[in-house]
Amino acid sequence: MNLELSEEQTAVRALAAEFTDREIVPFAAEWDRAESVDRSVIGKLGKLGFLGLTIPEEYGGSGGDHLAYCLVLEELGRGDSSVRGIVSVSLGLVAKSVNSYGTEEQKQHWLPRLTSGEALACFALTEPGTGSDAANLTTRAVREGDHWLISGAKMFITNGTWADVALVFARTGEAGHKGVTAFLVPTDSPGFGRREIHGKLGLRGQATAELVFDNVRVPDSARLGPEGKGFTVAMAALAKGRMSVAAGCVGIARACLEAAVGYAKEREQFGKPIASYQLVQELLSDIAVDVEAARLLTWRVADLIERGLPFATESSVAKLFASEAAVRAANNALQVFGGYGFIDEYPVGKYLRDARVMTLYEGTSQIQKLLIGRALTGVNAF
Ligand SMILES: Cc1cc2nc3c(=O)[nH]c(=O)nc-3n(C[C@H](O)[C@H](O)[C@H](O)COP(=O)(O)OP(=O)(O)OC[C@H]3O[C@@H](n4cnc5c(N)ncnc54)[C@H](O)[C@@H]3O)c2cc1C
Repeated sequence: MNLELSEEQTAVRALAAEFTDREIVPFAAEWDRAESVDRSVIGKLGKLGFLGLTIPEEYGGSGGDHLAYCLVLEELGRGDSSVRGIVSVSLGLVAKSVNSYGTEEQKQHWLPRLTSGEALACFALTEPGTGSDAANLTTRAVREGDHWLISGAKMFITNGTWADVALVFARTGEAGHKGVTAFLVPTDSPGFGRREIHGKLGLRGQATAELVFDNVRVPDSARLGPEGKGFTVAMAALAKGRMSVAAGCVGIARACLEAAVGYAKEREQFGKPIASYQLVQELLSDIAVDVEAARLLTWRVADLIERGLPFATESSVAKLFASEAAVRAANNALQVFGGYGFIDEYPVGKYLRDARVMTLYEGTSQIQKLLIGRALTGVNAF
């Protein structure tokens, strides 16, 4: 694997860094308190091509490779995980699935809208009763001629109240993963209800929602991929999605490192900057090692994808390590800040709150361990 960035990758990273410093960092605390990022940021992300990375230009995408995508997500994640998550879901989980599994008509209809930021997408897999056990979802889609009627509920859906289209996974057949089909459901469809979930520990700037489907009618042309193959669509999306969560975690850990190093050099105790104490340097170096290790694991996934090699287990490894590393990094950074880390005038408390969910969504740390264990032994321990 070549660790040297190409000219194009270097340029896209610089663009994302500059955008993050100008359009995100100054507002992140305000958005967190207001429980909403400024929605105008979506159009700006679209304009820069950040919502179209890896999508072919003929569908409005900005091309680029998966490493460029990780570089952009690291920068956005450094600024605000809420913004990074909007991109990871709308582009990473939905637009990429449309690109991989969609008909020509679906690609032409949705991709230019999603890549420009004119429309936003959400990924609706989790239900109130099925989180880790997603294959047992109970939302139903019943065929009625050349249409489907969808009924059920989804829980914790990122972008849920903002999205124009939901990628919905519903049961159309037998129990278990073989009976699931994916649908692209416009959120203005009659019978589609949504309610924002407030009071989250972190990612407060993001619209996380509960969705309700009351006989939502969609044509068969809204089906994404073959009948009964919805779980394959979901798992393929999440395999790549875990890389994008990992890239966002590298961004959080880096933000923690930069904040903690800066503070340690300024803050004086016992007549000297706290950076001059070995135990403080230990905290800083632990964060630095986590940043580097998480980044290399993440880049390895991008490299495997580009080379057309299997990457799902490596993506679980990267997501597991990077998410736990981001929590550790934020906790260490908070320690460096002392009592000031505990108030929201300083950013590290938010980094810790935002990092915490990374070990939960797109498969908890326990689920990643089971996936890695299954790959190692061939034994399914779920
Ligand atoms: C802010 C936020 C945003 C989210 N965004 C989305 C989204 O956009 N789309 C979407 O579909 N979902 C989304 N989710 C849902 C997320 O993916 C689920 O919360 C996650 O999969 C865990 O499911 P659960 O919360 O039901 O926990 P559960 O599955 O009930 O797990 C509870 C605990 O049991 C453990 N556990 C479960 N099964 C096993 C097992 N077999 N072995 C060992 N331990 C086990 C888990 O690791 C966990 O510790 C989001 C969640 C949050 C909090």
